[in-house]
Amino acid sequence: MPDTKVRVRFAPSPTGPLHMGGVRTALFNYLFAKKHKGSFILRIEDTDQTRYVPGAEDYILEALEWCGLEFDEKPGYPCGFGPYRQSERKDIYETFAKKLINSGHAYYAFDTPEELDAKRKEYEQDKKVFTYNAQTRGSMRNSLSLPENEVTELLKGDYVIRFKMPDDEVVEEEDLIRGKVAFNTKELDDKVLFKSDGMPTYHLANVVDDHFMKISHVIRGEEWLPSLPLHVLLYRSLGWDSPRFAHLPLILKPTGKGKLSKRDGDKAGFPVFPLQWKDPKTGEVSSGYREEGYFPEAFINMLAMLGWNPGTEQEIFSLDELIELFSLERVNKSGARFDPEKTKWFNQQHLLRKPDFELAVLFNNILHDKNIDASVEFTEKVVALVKERVTFVKDFWEQASFFYVAPEEYDPKIVKKRWKGDVPAFMEELTGKLQDVEEWKADNIKAAVSALIEEKGLGFGLVMNALRLALVGGGFGPDLMTIAELIGKEETIQRINNALEKL
Ligand code: GLU
Repeated sequence: MPDTKVRVRFAPSPTGPLHMGGVRTALFNYLFAKKHKGSFILRIEDTDQTRYVPGAEDYILEALEWCGLEFDEKPGYPCGFGPYRQSERKDIYETFAKKLINSGHAYYAFDTPEELDAKRKEYEQDKKVFTYNAQTRGSMRNSLSLPENEVTELLKGDYVIRFKMPDDEVVEEEDLIRGKVAFNTKELDDKVLFKSDGMPTYHLANVVDDHFMKISHVIRGEEWLPSLPLHVLLYRSLGWDSPRFAHLPLILKPTGKGKLSKRDGDKAGFPVFPLQWKDPKTGEVSSGYREEGYFPEAFINMLAMLGWNPGTEQEIFSLDELIELFSLERVNKSGARFDPEKTKWFNQQHLLRKPDFELAVLFNNILHDKNIDASVEFTEKVVALVKERVTFVKDFWEQASFFYVAPEEYDPKIVKKRWKGDVPAFMEELTGKLQDVEEWKADNIKAAVSALIEEKGLGFGLVMNALRLALVGGGFGPDLMTIAELIGKEETIQRINNALEKL
């Protein structure tokens, strides 16, 4: 690691909700920054006004806050490197576009959208693809092809500034994940750097900002790899050192074929967004991991394993552990397959790692919404008993409602199988025996039940299953005597009486 300070940025465009691939990019930047005691910066790349979606920037901030990825610098942060919103840096970019013109690395182009369209169609007719490059720029309307006086005149109207892509040159760069990557400029076009609306395009703004914000490492998705040669050439043309680059692998569909999209999530019923998102135009609501009940630490852990591994068998990590272990050398080049089932497993594992007290507080909130108020001490005991059986906190209700409310219904199959013959009479007698239990503890309750079973010569299994039916309404739940102990003597007897009445 060179001794320059690590400064990385997450640079989303506010064109909609942040996809989980975007969160992973932010996460890897965050981990890298924290690992090297560097800074993690948020820059909003909002130069494309036509794609701006209201609410998207707030969504991005809220989502990353939920994930626990705190920025060291972001919009609103009073620091020499700001402003952090490109629309507020507008005046900076033109200078550099002009500088590139003066040094011969860029030129003015006056082709109208209609002219460009016609050109494309003309090529299509010959089954060719039109590219604005060294081969074609001479026949287009620009400051390289037109006489100077005409250019001066045309500059009074609309124009764009294009990069003059060198013809047939190899651009090489060392990617920290992929190793050496090479591109031939023959394959590239004269990208627009500055638009007629007075705004830079992504490429120019991105390079200028990374330079002035002293970004040391650009860590971003693989989809930006094709832009790398242009960016490298822009740095060179402007006489600047470029940052180091690392392009993260794609996140693939659960089938492993192709890039994961929102449609995959819609089809298979899993979220692709960290938070729920309501499209401001269509009103369509897309589900989010937060609203589905995932813990942010589980979501983050799952994302960290998409394309990175620690080199050991360990899969469950806290954010601090991830910071400790993270390195770009251990990020894979090949795409990472997303597995929605495994994502649930991550949540379950993180749930099991949480203190019972914390789970109890969370479950009590759910109970409170159902007008059930329980003490944290009591719910702590409940969650300890059933946590192995749940994936989400919301599952506690299904697994443990009987600790709080008597069953209203009884599983008919079990009723048929267990509540028959001598059972009702036994239960009636049992209520009396239970009444006599002095210290209401699981062992004592069990002793009382067992004594009566022995006396009557009934099957232990039969009675226990019938008793479970009376107390929980079905054939599930943790140790029955512990359930009886927790719900209390009165309630246990009451539930047996309820069953006797109803069944
Ligand atoms: N604004 C780009 C995006 O939306 C940033 C790409 C980059 O990190 O250079 O992903």
